[in-house]
Amino acid sequence: MRLRNIPGAQEAIRESEFVIENAQEKKGNWSSVFGNTNPIRIEVGMGKGKFLMELAGKNPEVNYIGIERYSSVLLRALQKMEEEQRSNLKFLCIDAKELEDVFSPGEVDKIYLNFSDPWPKDRHAKRRLPSREFLARFDKILKKDGRIEFKTDNRGLFDFAVEELEPAGWKAEKITYDLHHDAEMAEGNIMTEYEEKFSALGNPICKYIIYR
Ligand code: SAM
Repeated sequence: MRLRNIPGAQEAIRESEFVIENAQEKKGNWSSVFGNTNPIRIEVGMGKGKFLMELAGKNPEVNYIGIERYSSVLLRALQKMEEEQRSNLKFLCIDAKELEDVFSPGEVDKIYLNFSDPWPKDRHAKRRLPSREFLARFDKILKKDGRIEFKTDNRGLFDFAVEELEPAGWKAEKITYDLHHDAEMAEGNIMTEYEEKFSALGNPICKYIIYR
């Protein structure tokens, strides 16, 4: 998904009204950014933003924040927002390792992880977003009864993610290994860019919803 060296990407992000710069200053005060006290849900590793654009359009009573570390990728989401604006959607161009600097404990109502990078080498396991290291970070910002929802077509990554739950102190509320043929879990499903691409190839999509 990394689109390298798009000229002007960083400048466009700096100037965009949809991107929150110096997000650390908003910690504990995100309601002021949105002008309401609606719940805040975030997608970590948002990519080009299709999922959040649709979700934010369907749920105006919820605030959404997309987290994407690459400006060249985030630029695509900004272009979509220029065409079709959403007052309940903002973007942050940061690494997910910085989430604790940006949100205070319990400030986030739900976290979405969609088609997270698999980092296949064992020595890179800590970089996987559903790893115990990242679950510990998410634990700090997610409200007490909050949920994380994770989808991927990568069975190896999904099996790893499920194995991480117990040592990290999380429990599965729901798990499916074929989301699109699971009537209950597929209800209201919004496809991400990667989900469209890989399900079109016939890959089953795995999903869990977890809590602690
Ligand atoms: N969620 C989108 C989807 O399902 O179509 C994009 C999936 S893409 C494989 C993963 C995205 O996560 C990439 O754009 C990558 O830059 C971003 N990403 C990976 N690790 C990240 C991190 N630690 N912090 C922020 N973004 C990250």
